[in-house]
Amino acid sequence: MKTPGLLKDLQQAVGTAHVLTRDSADLSAYETDWRKRHTGRALAVVRPGNTEEVAQVVRLCAQAGASLVPQGGNTGLVVGSVPDTLGRQVVLNSTRMNQVLALDAANLTLTVQAGCALQAAQNAAEQAGLLLPLSLAAEGSCTVGGNLATNAGGTQVLRFGNARELCLGLEVVTPQGEVWNGLSGLRKDNTGYDLRHLYIGSEGTLGVITAATLKLYPQPVAQLTAWAAVPSLQAAVDLLGLAQRHLGAGLSGFELMGQFALGLVDKHFPALRVPLWQTQPHCVLLENSDNESEAHARERFETLLEIALAQGCATDAVVAESLAQSRNLWHIRESISMAQAEEGLNIKHDISLPVSRIPDFCAETDALLARTLPGVRLVNFGHLGDGNLHYNVQAPQGVDPKQFLGQHETAINALVFDAVARFNGSISAEHGIGSLKAHTLPHYKSPVALALMRSIKQALDPQNIMNPGRVLAQNTD
Ligand SMILES: Cc1cc2nc3c(=O)[nH]c(=O)nc-3n(C[C@H](O)[C@H](O)[C@H](O)COP(=O)(O)OP(=O)(O)OC[C@H]3O[C@@H](n4cnc5c(N)ncnc54)[C@H](O)[C@@H]3O)c2cc1C
Repeated sequence: MKTPGLLKDLQQAVGTAHVLTRDSADLSAYETDWRKRHTGRALAVVRPGNTEEVAQVVRLCAQAGASLVPQGGNTGLVVGSVPDTLGRQVVLNSTRMNQVLALDAANLTLTVQAGCALQAAQNAAEQAGLLLPLSLAAEGSCTVGGNLATNAGGTQVLRFGNARELCLGLEVVTPQGEVWNGLSGLRKDNTGYDLRHLYIGSEGTLGVITAATLKLYPQPVAQLTAWAAVPSLQAAVDLLGLAQRHLGAGLSGFELMGQFALGLVDKHFPALRVPLWQTQPHCVLLENSDNESEAHARERFETLLEIALAQGCATDAVVAESLAQSRNLWHIRESISMAQAEEGLNIKHDISLPVSRIPDFCAETDALLARTLPGVRLVNFGHLGDGNLHYNVQAPQGVDPKQFLGQHETAINALVFDAVARFNGSISAEHGIGSLKAHTLPHYKSPVALALMRSIKQALDPQNIMNPGRVLAQNTD
């Protein structure tokens, strides 16, 4: 690889100020993943300003044989957006490409550049009185391109689907540096293979997403939040069914939080005042979006909760009285990850299961973990409405977390993922595979599916320059 020549060419393509190297800048924010589990070494960080510049960067890297790591907000949780340690990869950071390109209110679509922060896209929709219903705790920093590359989920999947369901069109730079403009705002377009779906969830391994057209919805007239204590996981599943029957499409969120997870929020962020967490093993947060009126929403919510209390699937419940209270309840839910980080390193499992099997999965796996590693603490929470648990394992009280992870992480992952497989679940619900799980995937994915994935990668990126070793590990099989 001709490094000096490539760096000069990249500077010419995007401007010297937008090619960051170790000599000219501190690259640590681009080289270290969000959870600080991996620090790589980039040849350079390139920050193109538009699609044509992205295409030029990709062509130059392809000619020089340098691989590329697409990067948005670098909030991904599976080590997919930072370079390896060899110092030869170019990080292609999209955050200069942050413009809202078009909002079509009649078509209910928003078109943005890939580096647009999710929150900025949400704000653009809101200013037009519309809703972009993709919401996650990282929304201030993550980008729409990153959301689509990881097929992000978040808190409203139950009602509106994953990022995939919210995307109508994409613009992509291929590994050969060509631009595919598929920025369609069409809801119906059966003209052959749907390339959009190939790139969504591909984690930067098939091309660089440079822009996207997203679906918008009318803003609900009222959005109410309730918080309920539930006596068991089965009761939480029963409450979910009850809420689906009573609220129909109005049910836009159903989050589960285990007692230990809420206890960590109470311990590390006492000002948040976590309600009802001490009496029952779990709490749930429900959101009801209503297109009629706040009074209508409240009445339906209160009826639902009365039935739930009478049937015993909830033992206590509160409905937020104001927007501020509602935001606080969501803030508690979204603070679990931070509280967990404050408590120390932990082993994260972002898994999905058929909702009906979650109680049995947890009973069996909790017991297995307790028998195998007495004293381990489970931070169990997640998007129960989507069958998605963040089933995280924390070291026993008083045990050094780093040492614990070093000794037990591989065995704990195998124990949890084997259980997930027995219950017909997935080892990655919404965070993706990245490099963190690339070597684990072949144990749990069908060989036929893996072979098809490799064929697609080979067909689209025969030079293997786009995020190599992510999703599909190198030198396996
Ligand atoms: C506090 C917190 C909460 C989170 N909550 C959720 C949640 O509820 N649901 C959920 O699904 N995820 C969640 N995440 C993780 C989630 O995957 C990311 O937040 C987000 O989707 C990634 O966007 P990003 O711009 O930061 O991408 P990055 O982290 O920069 O990149 C992620 C992956 O996408 C690729 N990529 C990035 N941009 C592009 C592009 N333009 N073209 C091609 N490939 C690209 C990268 O190569 C990498 O493989 C959370 C993360 C944090 C830190």
